[in-house]
Amino acid sequence: MALPDWDRAVIKVGSALVAPDKRGCSTTYLLPIARFIVESQRQGNEVILVSSGAVAAGLAAQGDGHPGSGLSIPEKQALAAIGQPLLMAHWRRLFDVPCAQVLLTYDDLRRRARFVNAKNTINELLDRGTLPIVNENDTVAVEELQVGDNDNLAAFVAVLAGADLLVICSDVDGLYDADPHESPDAERYPVVEAITDEVYDMVGGARRATATGGMRTKVEAAEKATDRGIGTVLVNGTKGEHLDALSRGEMPGTFFRPAEQPRSARKHWMVHALPTTGRIVVDEGAAQALRHQGASLLPAGIVDVEGPFARGDAVEVVVPDEGSDGPVRVAKGITQYGADDLKRIRGRQSHAIAEVLDDAPSDHVIHRDDLVLVDG
Ligand code: GLU
Repeated sequence: MALPDWDRAVIKVGSALVAPDKRGCSTTYLLPIARFIVESQRQGNEVILVSSGAVAAGLAAQGDGHPGSGLSIPEKQALAAIGQPLLMAHWRRLFDVPCAQVLLTYDDLRRRARFVNAKNTINELLDRGTLPIVNENDTVAVEELQVGDNDNLAAFVAVLAGADLLVICSDVDGLYDADPHESPDAERYPVVEAITDEVYDMVGGARRATATGGMRTKVEAAEKATDRGIGTVLVNGTKGEHLDALSRGEMPGTFFRPAEQPRSARKHWMVHALPTTGRIVVDEGAAQALRHQGASLLPAGIVDVEGPFARGDAVEVVVPDEGSDGPVRVAKGITQYGADDLKRIRGRQSHAIAEVLDDAPSDHVIHRDDLVLVDG
């Protein structure tokens, strides 16, 4: 297939391409990638680069062992601080346009005001004809405030920047039905129409398992991007000819097709960026009403509350399922009541809220506009 036309792309390059022999930044794979970026700009398109390799560059500068293995968090954070300017200097040599360093944390993505700030900055940098080079701010991002991997970071950046293409460079030719490093008969998918549970099974593990890098985080990134209408390409970044083919509008890797009905910016943010702090367990009737009748969540359908959480927090709505391992997810939403209040009004009719609580700001616990349905 041909690569659909695009105007603004985010291209993600991982540490294995930046520092392939573990001796710091190398031009081996970066020259063809830079050529793709320059050629895209020449064709009038805008490009944002998301580059890993800060820790790898820091390690090499310190003359240490292998990136990532057995490092403490402060060690990694210090190495990222040492390596980030080396990484920038390395990329800068490959471009005539100015390169602009943008370091983001998860906090910049989940908090609306910071998200808008970052978006405005990236737009300004593109307007000024620079190449924004993004990485996670590893030096300050503590674990719970980390995106954690640059595949998902790149997807968030694509959403934030209103890109219409996400290119993820890997060291395989695309998504295969088995690991091509281990099974020579493995077949590549040229196109993935939708990211289903089967796609996740293929890359090892349930949809919500903790991300461990590798192909899984690439599929997660593609899911985030395509859900907002951004087509995603997985391409072999070690093969210059594949990048050249992309420049000519061909599709040498795997193309994840964008959703036909992308989620709105707000709902996308709720599903993908907003962390949940607790759970509300509802009965089957309430689950059905949420799923099939476009209803808001009322206190009458609530059977249990797992906090702590406060008014305005995001929570998961789940329904018990005897047949499966645990409760099944129904929705995610922003609650009008904190966990302690909810425990007092659960199971009651909405008009009775004011009899139990001094402050009853709403008849519903989660308004439909603040709720998104989620699969299992
Ligand atoms: N931000 C990390 C670095 O630059 C890499 C994270 C990743 O590659 O997923 O070293």
